[in-house]
Amino acid sequence: MLKKRYLMTPGPTPVPEDIMLEMARPIIHHRTAQFREIIKSCEEGLKYVLGTQNDVVIFTSSGTGAMEAAVANFLSAKDKAICVMGGKFGERWSEICKAYGVESIDLNVEWGKAVDPASIKNALEKNKDVKAVFTTQCETSTGALNDIQAIGKIVSGSGAILVVDAISSLGACEIMTDEWKVDVVVGGSQKGLMIPPGLSFCSVSEKARQMLATSSLPKYYFNIKKALKSLEKDDTPYTPAVTLMIGLAKALDMIREEGIQEVIKRHRRLANAVRQAMKALGLELLSASPADSVTAVEVPEGIDGAALVKSIKENRGVWFAGGQAQLKGKIFRIATLGFMGDFDVIISISALELALKEAGYEFGVGSGVGAALNALLK
Ligand SMILES: *Cc1c(COP(=O)(O)O)cnc(C)c1O
Repeated sequence: MLKKRYLMTPGPTPVPEDIMLEMARPIIHHRTAQFREIIKSCEEGLKYVLGTQNDVVIFTSSGTGAMEAAVANFLSAKDKAICVMGGKFGERWSEICKAYGVESIDLNVEWGKAVDPASIKNALEKNKDVKAVFTTQCETSTGALNDIQAIGKIVSGSGAILVVDAISSLGACEIMTDEWKVDVVVGGSQKGLMIPPGLSFCSVSEKARQMLATSSLPKYYFNIKKALKSLEKDDTPYTPAVTLMIGLAKALDMIREEGIQEVIKRHRRLANAVRQAMKALGLELLSASPADSVTAVEVPEGIDGAALVKSIKENRGVWFAGGQAQLKGKIFRIATLGFMGDFDVIISISALELALKEAGYEFGVGSGVGAALNALLK
């Protein structure tokens, strides 16, 4: 049987052919005028996508590398930080803080819910010495979107910096770094930015920059101060992932060409079509404040969620993500993230319908696809 594969996971995501071709060209040296142009172009493109005038440093690592850098470079041992939990990636902030001896005030949020910004306000009022608030924008493990604009209003009035993990929302959901007063935005390459895994980013506001000077936590490779200094000359402290940066420059050109507002609208339109299809199939979303980059759907009663995801993958070649940790087997997640269009949604819903029918779930075949098509017509 023909094995055609469709990657519908929230990272890695499909890479456009034009980008792959760009990355297939012969390697160039990184200490050249030619490569400095690539860095400059990445820098301008990232600022555009993030909506910021702040510098954005680029690291050779998956997204977690820039998360770790954000803790290690802005804080000092025994500092206090508020970490918004609510899923696997929110928990990661707390784990990194603990690994560095930073005292994490864990703000527990029920998985699937967005954080109530007022709870951050309360935590800041109770702990006046908090140095940073760490949160996700899209909590990929639950599909919930946090209200970063509201959180920015609160944190900007305190002495703390706001650090946002936007790894699965950059290039998909709106983020206005400067207008929303976000000090540090962390991003990664393999999601909305349409290139393979291996690059991470970190924007640095003036308030955050001042904390670089006082941070006493150990760091060497992930040194933001050094990276910023090199960036002044469109350079990097160490050999960058040349190939991926060439891919990133191309991806950012594509985003600029489409227009970031159009890119955001496209994601909203696709995610809406998925949500309408789920409704028509009688399936519940996990989150009441769903992100447009990934939709987490509750597995219906009596159906084995892990087996469902496996059968969609093995029998139809379509890769969804399952649930993580306590959501294992309980949800599946469909991404509408990065290089995706109308028919990616139709493929996803079709594959889901086939697998659901085979698993004995009752519904009218085509009702989900029909709802998605109708949503796309509007
Ligand atoms: C993918 C992802 C990460 C980072 O994961 P890496 O595997 O290190 O790239 C972090 N946060 C969120 C919200 C993510 O979706």
